[in-house]
Amino acid sequence: MILIDTHAHLYYDSMCDRLDDVIGDAAENHVHKIVCIGTDVASSKQSVDIANHYEGVYAAVGVHPHDSNDVDSNYIKELEHLASSSKKVVSIGEIGIDHYRNLSPPDVQRKVMIEQMELANSLNLPIIFHNRDADDEIFNVLKEHTFNRALSHCFSSDIVFANQLVDLNILLSFSGNVTFKNSSNRSAAENIGLDNFVLETDCPFLSPHPFRGKPNEPKRVYDIALYLSELLGISIEEIADATSKNAMQFFNID
Ligand SMILES: [Zn+2]
Ligand SMILES: [Zn+2]
Repeated sequence: MILIDTHAHLYYDSMCDRLDDVIGDAAENHVHKIVCIGTDVASSKQSVDIANHYEGVYAAVGVHPHDSNDVDSNYIKELEHLASSSKKVVSIGEIGIDHYRNLSPPDVQRKVMIEQMELANSLNLPIIFHNRDADDEIFNVLKEHTFNRALSHCFSSDIVFANQLVDLNILLSFSGNVTFKNSSNRSAAENIGLDNFVLETDCPFLSPHPFRGKPNEPKRVYDIALYLSELLGISIEEIADATSKNAMQFFNID
């Protein structure tokens, strides 16, 4: 059985000092591939370095909506340089819009998201986007701009919005929050179908139940897969097979 963590921030202090253990523990829990996601130019560079060092680790480079107000004028060039520096870079991300916290002005978030979508197109790479309280705006950006392939990371909305994204050929990703009591995305997880989602931890955040509140790690993809197998009434192997196939296709890795 192979599980894939499509969204991990391995450069955080809780993990980066003991990465051999973190990646070894993941493998013991069937998590054999991990995509490490940057949130600004510096962490994107760290993600590429980690991916270059570990066979099963890949990288995404990008600027998070929270950080979009802090970019300097040549950030696209810097991301382009990073993306071209290694075959392990498999996506542009995480990009997106976050109206829950609005740490950067909304118009800047949108502009930086679109600029990075254009970069992804020029590099022939897919995008990974973050969406918090921004369903309508994200949907309009995706409808009005071209993209190769897109992944809605930490999908947290209901089946209605899930279907709207799938109609645009967008892949969903479920994190530990699907295991929480009263989770907002349960109807999506139950009904969207095995072809349309992948799994992620978003570690060190969002540990699944019963580890909620503790630091998260890639090995917890196993617990999310187990939860979904019980929710859907199928085996964990079926969850693993479908989500790993979807992820490998999306990132174009084997
Ligand atoms: Zn995010
Ligand atoms: Zn993230």
